[in-house]
Amino acid sequence: MTFEELGLREEVLQAILPLGFENPTPIQEKAIPSLIESHRDLVGLAQTGTGKTAAFGLPMAHLINFSNPVVQGLVLCPTRELCLQIADDLKKYTQELPGARLTAVYGGSSIDKQIKDIRKGAHIIIATPGRLIDLIKRGKVDLNQVDIAVLDEADEMLNMGFKEDIDFILSHTPPTKRTWLFSATMPKGVAAIAKNFMEDPLEVTVGNKNSSASTITHKYISINGRNRYPALKRLLDYYPNIYGIVFCNTRHHTREVAEKLSRDGYSAEALHGDLSQAERDSVMVKFRDKSVQILVATDVAARGIDVDEISHVIHYMLPDDVENYTHRSGRTGRAGKEGESIVILDSRDVNRLRDVERIMKKEISYFTIPSGEDIVQKQIEAYVSELKDAPYDFEAIDPYITQIFQELEGLEKEELISKIISKEFGRLFKYYQNVHDLNVTPRKPGGKFADREARSNGQYQRIFVNVGHMDGVDKGALLRLVCSAANIPGSSVGRIDLKQQFSFVDVEKQHANQVVDQVTGAELDGRTVRAELSDEPSGGGGRSGGGGRGRSGGGPKGGKRKGGPSGGRSGGSRRRSGGSSEGGGNRKPYEVYHKRTQHK
Ligand code: AMP
Repeated sequence: MTFEELGLREEVLQAILPLGFENPTPIQEKAIPSLIESHRDLVGLAQTGTGKTAAFGLPMAHLINFSNPVVQGLVLCPTRELCLQIADDLKKYTQELPGARLTAVYGGSSIDKQIKDIRKGAHIIIATPGRLIDLIKRGKVDLNQVDIAVLDEADEMLNMGFKEDIDFILSHTPPTKRTWLFSATMPKGVAAIAKNFMEDPLEVTVGNKNSSASTITHKYISINGRNRYPALKRLLDYYPNIYGIVFCNTRHHTREVAEKLSRDGYSAEALHGDLSQAERDSVMVKFRDKSVQILVATDVAARGIDVDEISHVIHYMLPDDVENYTHRSGRTGRAGKEGESIVILDSRDVNRLRDVERIMKKEISYFTIPSGEDIVQKQIEAYVSELKDAPYDFEAIDPYITQIFQELEGLEKEELISKIISKEFGRLFKYYQNVHDLNVTPRKPGGKFADREARSNGQYQRIFVNVGHMDGVDKGALLRLVCSAANIPGSSVGRIDLKQQFSFVDVEKQHANQVVDQVTGAELDGRTVRAELSDEPSGGGGRSGGGGRGRSGGGPKGGKRKGGPSGGRSGGSRRRSGGSSEGGGNRKPYEVYHKRTQHK
């Protein structure tokens, strides 16, 4: 479908042209024709990044009578940042409509100036609820002739406690108006607004209800809580070109993480409620123009941040409620671009992660924290690719080049490149030579229940093993044998039935053949073990742990047990030697990269 086919007036189509929008987005396609043809209310379930501002902004531009100098359009939104963004977009959509006047009113800025602006005449007011109420109470704004009221990010406004304010504001608008509500999620409070203030609204949903935009990949790494900060640094080092937001649950953490990152040489700044408006604006200017790569923010401070190219959202901690997860993640993957949302998860919180998945109806997949080698490799790749594409100013270098060539005479190309890379990355190589593996296997969600469920779903295969009590073997030894020989985690092994002369071991079906192959021929206390697939059905009930009777120990010789729930990434050998503390200190593995970005 084209914009022409939506039925928008010529001046609005003209205004869209310079914006380079080729076709309407799905929400625009679904909403715009109905909104301009009929006098209908609308409930739009859509994330930021779906084109929802234009979905209400273009019909507003189409419908409002700009020769009548009264307020006809009202947009309520949760934050100043979003307010300014919407005003900016609406100005573009109305630029070909002579006399169109828009005013943005929001807290943290001079009310007198805003009063003056309103007095000059405004057809559309874009407002945060608190400031608008102030203006209504002072009698400075008249909403009696509002024809279209938009509630943008309604769920956010409710989260921020604007429920009464919204009721108050809407009660000052005429009942004949149309109301268009947009929300990323549909909690009860938003449904109640729809019920109380709307009549038979048109419902438009983009993507699943309560789900994130599809251009976002959701991942988590699993760690011991005390390694949160080092894990964050590994991620940042692994994505050298990251342009991202790190979300923290508290102001305290936000400040602390941003300070540590700056000290460690990263290009990071904090955004939280303790900053003055001017400080916040200054941080946002730096972030927008990319002189700051990483914004460390609280949920509240980052609401309404609307920057299109954010590559990563990192959840320093899982947020306290699922809706915040959705809002955080929605800051990346915008305008059709790809984005990654990565949770740094305390391995004990895996059940909470599953809750988020269930509500979002999206999988958050496990991601192994990259090894030192992977990180170094990534950094070198980024450097080399940057070097390859770097423009150079021949004239500027020309006066020096002869001397440089003379100095470097005799150096082969290979040697020269090796020297450059060693010089640039020597410190990084050294740093990442001796770091710990931070990955911690997440506890199986649901614990025993999940095990039992797997068994009843037939996910286990019973395996016969030719050793039993008689051989002095206990369950622990058998478990160790199976896991280490076949290189699978203990969580993939189900019930173990130890008989006098032999045993049965249940393993997840996908590992069954591998277990048979690898266990057969292994040595256990001097006996050569043989394993076979068994026709017996796998047993019920949970494994009773590695205790059992008989001698303990007796693990197999050879074969190492890998950590991580999925056996680890390829090429991801994790070192355990050494004891580098990553908690801060003077090491700045990122410094090399950071220095270069500063000179951009
Ligand atoms: P929003 O969901 O309103 O925050 O919009 C996200 C981004 O998509 C903004 O930068 C818009 O300018 C852009 N956008 C809106 N509509 C379109 C469209 N039809 N084609 C391409 N980009 C669009």
